[in-house]
Amino acid sequence: MNPYYREYSDFLAERFEGKVQKISIDLALGCPNRDGTLGHGGCIYCNNAAFSPDAAKNALGVAGQLARGKAFFARKYPTMRYLAYFQSYTGTYGLHSKLIEAYREALADSETLGIIIGTRPDCLPDTLLDRLVRLSKESGKEIMIEFGVESMHDSTLELINRHHSAATAADAIRRAAAAGFAVGVHLILGLPGETEEMMTATVDAINALPVSTIKFHQLQVLRGTRLAQMYAEGLSLTLFTPDDYAALCVRLLKRLRPEIALDRFVAQAPADLLIAPRWGLKNYQFREILLKKLAES
Ligand code: SF4
Repeated sequence: MNPYYREYSDFLAERFEGKVQKISIDLALGCPNRDGTLGHGGCIYCNNAAFSPDAAKNALGVAGQLARGKAFFARKYPTMRYLAYFQSYTGTYGLHSKLIEAYREALADSETLGIIIGTRPDCLPDTLLDRLVRLSKESGKEIMIEFGVESMHDSTLELINRHHSAATAADAIRRAAAAGFAVGVHLILGLPGETEEMMTATVDAINALPVSTIKFHQLQVLRGTRLAQMYAEGLSLTLFTPDDYAALCVRLLKRLRPEIALDRFVAQAPADLLIAPRWGLKNYQFREILLKKLAES
């Protein structure tokens, strides 16, 4: 609990009793922005290697991945409960019957209290939403949806090759929330060409939508991406220092609807993939900088 913004832990505590930990489940799903359905190159900041299916992990299946995750945490916290997080690639991109089977398998686990599904805004049709509503009722457990929104400016979405519009994101958020799901959004701060006014306008647009949680990520230039190539060719980017980024987060937090819980402020790419900015900070270290700035503001 802190006096400056709503913590994600508060959001979870309202829904679940005791300590809850996310366990990432990889279904080795593809992405329509990579397999040619929408495009081949993917989003300009997305790294192939970072998003390669983890064959070893996938071979374990849903129950096996959950068991492995639980074994890791249960050693320290025997009473820990879990949320299965379908985060890799596009978590709703696949044959609907297969997807429902995988989600159902996670929900059947007695220590798993719910699931979180991460996806693109253009990959959650009403037919799948209806099936998720039925699955949530049947299991008696919570299903939460997270959308990669990144920006609410079409000019930016086009530049970063997202292949969806801000209107598509707004529509997906409204439909998922109307179906009864808590909705989370991911935004990237510092996208090419974006001014602070544009980022603030994105936050304003999110404020007007039925969003429960948010993740802010600083733009990172990763090896093997189109962005890395553009950067090497001289593209001018706002690459924040931790201090500048924290100051920006403070200003955006003052703007953000206070009911929206903050899930993350920073992205952490593997060091061998990261070209810039190289902060070398752990999450908790950034949080300390941010809280200090909030206290001073
Ligand atoms: S960021 Fe997501 S939507 Fe974009 S190419 Fe990568 S996996 Fe696909």
